[in-house]
Amino acid sequence: MKELTRGVVRFEKEIYPKRKDFFDKLIAKQFPRALFITCSDSRVVPNMITDSEPGDLFTIRNAGNIIPPYEEAMGGVSASIEYAVMVLNIKNIIVCGHTRCGAMHAAMHPESVSQMPIVKSWLNHSESARRIVMGHKDLPEEKRALIMVEENVLAQLDHLRTHPSVAAALARGDMELYGWVFDIVHGNVTSYDGEQGEFVPISAEHMPTATPPRRRRVL
Ligand SMILES: [Zn+2]
Repeated sequence: MKELTRGVVRFEKEIYPKRKDFFDKLIAKQFPRALFITCSDSRVVPNMITDSEPGDLFTIRNAGNIIPPYEEAMGGVSASIEYAVMVLNIKNIIVCGHTRCGAMHAAMHPESVSQMPIVKSWLNHSESARRIVMGHKDLPEEKRALIMVEENVLAQLDHLRTHPSVAAALARGDMELYGWVFDIVHGNVTSYDGEQGEFVPISAEHMPTATPPRRRRVL
């Protein structure tokens, strides 16, 4: 704890005063560029991997970057999504999983959390991803682990769309969804390309999106 204490003192005495003008601009209101939903894992640092600043990302974190479907578990995740979309008017939502994820490992091996009923129940929200991985028994463990992480991101994106605020924004064409995987081994990010149906590298020119096509309506 000593290191963290020293860090707080450094922030108060050195970092904050040096950037006082920047922080002052954030006092009145926040205008985040995106809602960033990711795992609690300490090695995943949203502002670092997006090279962004305080005020840029409205963040939800939990074990396994899980988004319970609407009405199934009305809690902090659902409330934060609703607030982000309806009050902060956020138009980009990123669901970001990561490699070497302890939660996804546990989801693949439910016996490892048999003594942790709350964790076990929480990971049930990743059951569809687990079932998909079960169909790839022939693949090496490392590959299966990656499929689990990717499929979990896609499952949570599906859940996200059950939230009325998100569904309505998508129907208006007023929302973009992104499914990312941060590879903590190589320090890169892939993004799900909804058209190609696969996770692909991100480039400065192209950010693949997982946004579903808009419904066509004849009025
Ligand atoms: Zn994780």
